[in-house]
Amino acid sequence: MGTRTTEGRGKLHASILDTIGNTPTVRINKIAPDHVDVYVKFEAFNPGGSVKDRLAVNIIEAAEREGRLKPGQTVVEATSGNTGIGLAMVCAAKGYPLVITMADSFSVERRRLMRFLGAKVVLTPRALKGFGMYSKAKELAEKNGWFLASQFETPDNADIHQNTTAREILADFDGERLDYWVTGYGTGGTVSGVGRVLRESRPDTKIILTEPANAAIVGSGYVNTRNEANQPTESHPSFEPHPIQGWTPDFIPFVLQEAMDGAYYDELLPVAGADGISWSRRLAAEEGIFTGISGGSTFAIAMQIAQTAPKGSVLLVMLPDTGERYLSTPLFEGIAEEMTEEEIAISQSTPSAQMETG
Ligand code: PMP
Repeated sequence: MGTRTTEGRGKLHASILDTIGNTPTVRINKIAPDHVDVYVKFEAFNPGGSVKDRLAVNIIEAAEREGRLKPGQTVVEATSGNTGIGLAMVCAAKGYPLVITMADSFSVERRRLMRFLGAKVVLTPRALKGFGMYSKAKELAEKNGWFLASQFETPDNADIHQNTTAREILADFDGERLDYWVTGYGTGGTVSGVGRVLRESRPDTKIILTEPANAAIVGSGYVNTRNEANQPTESHPSFEPHPIQGWTPDFIPFVLQEAMDGAYYDELLPVAGADGISWSRRLAAEEGIFTGISGGSTFAIAMQIAQTAPKGSVLLVMLPDTGERYLSTPLFEGIAEEMTEEEIAISQSTPSAQMETG
């Protein structure tokens, strides 16, 4: 193998926002079964570290184009974190004040990241679930005349995945097999936007959707009520708190409803949070691919599909964000801060250990 060289991107980017998207598709070389080819689309490469940068920039720029967002107007949104971090980056770059509402159950690094990027973060009690933070954002927008980003309802969500994520997948698999595309959902923007395109351009690709086993709200068949603005009016009865942050709020988002009504997925499979965590750890430790709990969970389902997939099948798995967002969560449970016995033994194996121990 020759020495690696790089060429640069051959252009100067006018703004950090111009680096969003075009995330790499990467082969899994060790942890997948030999009879299939598994690739991941690694969204941590976005400048804000997650897939939600795509939606954040589109929500703001579509509203600017259509005059729905005025210069200097405050933006407000309810988010489990990644949308908030994406919006904070976009609002910082473009000069809009941002207020985020978020349940206090989501990881503290998410709050601190948003504040670091200049946003205000209003916490809502975890007992009120996603619906609580959602209602808070709506109230604040109404009371103050702020711009509500509406990630769960706006067409700007799935549209950006149709125009970017899906086009990237088509380009990367041009002339190649693609038998399965595997994703979870939070708002449903990814599955609805990419689903539109794959159904049209790659009708042979099977789309696999997954959700937390203990919050299988789509699988339950219960139909959520919504108001005339397509906003949820109740918390879903099948919801339970789950460890896959960023996935499955306690209502069925309107953006996701398109994928349900349009039969954009061939199978809906539940995944246990613990399996997601263990596959995220394996991706990091055995492939060098550092993704969060939702990435590990999506990968867990891909490994389940792979077991019975015909020889030569090609799978593509969405990895929505970076694992660095989960240092304070169960993903890192058992990862030591102090030296382990093994590390102490390594340390003591050379002469300077005498000096250190005095
Ligand atoms: N994983 C994580 C970590 C997320 O933050 C999100 C978005 N909330 C998703 C997956 C799902 O993406 P989407 O909203 O497009 O369904």
